Amino acid sequence: MIDRLFGKPISDSTCVALDLSATNLDLLPSIYGNDIAFKAYIESKIGDKIGFGGYLEHRVIYETYANFATSSADFRNIHLGMDFWTKAGTPVFAPLDGEVRSFQVNHGAGNYGPTIILHHPAENIYSLYGHLSMGDLSQLEIGLPISAGQKLCHLGNSDENGGWPPHLHFQLIRDMQGLKGDYPGVCSQRDAEYYAHNCPDPSRYG
Ligand SMILES: [Zn+2]
Repeated sequence: MIDRLFGKPISDSTCVALDLSATNLDLLPSIYGNDIAFKAYIESKIGDKIGFGGYLEHRVIYETYANFATSSADFRNIHLGMDFWTKAGTPVFAPLDGEVRSFQVNHGAGNYGPTIILHHPAENIYSLYGHLSMGDLSQLEIGLPISAGQKLCHLGNSDENGGWPPHLHFQLIRDMQGLKGDYPGVCSQRDAEYYAHNCPDPSRYG
């Protein structure tokens, strides 16, 4: 499925696995805590390839954002989707047939910014696209049919995507739990078992 997102296979010649886990000791607080240093770090790792990874990754990078802390004992730091890091403006294609379920701008530093959620009735699953460009939401309406392979959206820049180096957050969701335009992309260790089931690994799906 993930091969279809950028219209090319996720292979060594086009992509590089990116480790943003707590066990990556290169990723110092002075890097992930500084927008410019973090962007330079990502760029140094990916070059002109697509950096990818992050499913169920235990990350420290969220420490810098207040909206990930529900309490100090329940910090959300397990990443539930896959991230694809490449240039702002890069187009993203729908991986499956479906329809627009919901969309909105999720405001706040570290949040998704512009976000689209598709429903895929044949697979009985939803897909979420976060950190998009603002213009991607202007032509959408709820229920709009989307075909597999159709250009759906673009990676947003840091001014519109929640302040991140440009990347797509892509997440599969079985049960939306009644949410629209948003769904947690990161959970606490305590809730990881539930979310790991509700949000299957995109790299192993379809
Ligand atoms: Zn993400």
